[in-house]
Amino acid sequence: MAILRNENLSWRDIDSLNRDKSVFMLSLSPIEEHGPHLPCGTDFFAATDFTELAAQMLEQQHPDFNWIIYPPIPLGCTDMAADFPGTVSLRGKTLLRLLTDILSSIACHGFKYIAISNHHLDLGHFKAILLAIKKVEKKYPVKIIEPAGMTIHSGNNKIDLYNGTSPVDMKNEIHAGFQETSYMLYKYPSLVNPLYKKLSPFFVNIEQAFRKGKNTLKKMDANQGYIGNPALATESFGKIHHETGGKLLVNCIIDMLDNKPKPQLSKEMKFVLKFFVRLK
Ligand SMILES: [Zn+2]
Repeated sequence: MAILRNENLSWRDIDSLNRDKSVFMLSLSPIEEHGPHLPCGTDFFAATDFTELAAQMLEQQHPDFNWIIYPPIPLGCTDMAADFPGTVSLRGKTLLRLLTDILSSIACHGFKYIAISNHHLDLGHFKAILLAIKKVEKKYPVKIIEPAGMTIHSGNNKIDLYNGTSPVDMKNEIHAGFQETSYMLYKYPSLVNPLYKKLSPFFVNIEQAFRKGKNTLKKMDANQGYIGNPALATESFGKIHHETGGKLLVNCIIDMLDNKPKPQLSKEMKFVLKFFVRLK
């Protein structure tokens, strides 16, 4: 047993897999502008890389399992960055239906475990994923997790995945700032425009902005398409981000296989998703 690729297998190969020892792994993040210095594929690359890294780590820990990687999906909802060219944004209901169909197509054949690697925390995107998971888990005996959003928005405060090791305040790093620029410097340096070193920090109190109805980057005056401090980026933090993302996926998948409960969203986040985030 090993790391397998859905698209390389025949239906007979897939059908022969032990349902109790097979986990499907999906990467899902949109193509979306990431400032003047990073490529539009930044979230898509990271989500895909985390899946690959997690699959390698899981194969070492559980060589008796099949880790079936589905081709990465370059789609999602990104209302916040939709007013920049290069961004492709689905409506929330489109993503909900698309993901429900993909997850159902796996679950309807008796597969019991699916993990979604997601690097894009737009709340409309997150809500569509959660609703798709809920629908499919209700219809089929399957467990589906999306570790990134569920972990970051669990508990009462935004969780710091780096346990305080980050050299900058991550609360200010919203989009294409220190964290993502570091990641791209580490993993895809040729895709980073060196002008990042000259970009001024740009910060927005995102909650206040949303309350004032400013729900896109341009409405927040983030006219360059980033919020954070990209100039401070380092390759070494990019490595930390890569390993943190891979490990988070691994830990949540192991918990799922051990029948542990999923992280619970904070009351505040449940409220926001229910009453303030509408899927169009
Ligand atoms: Zn991003």
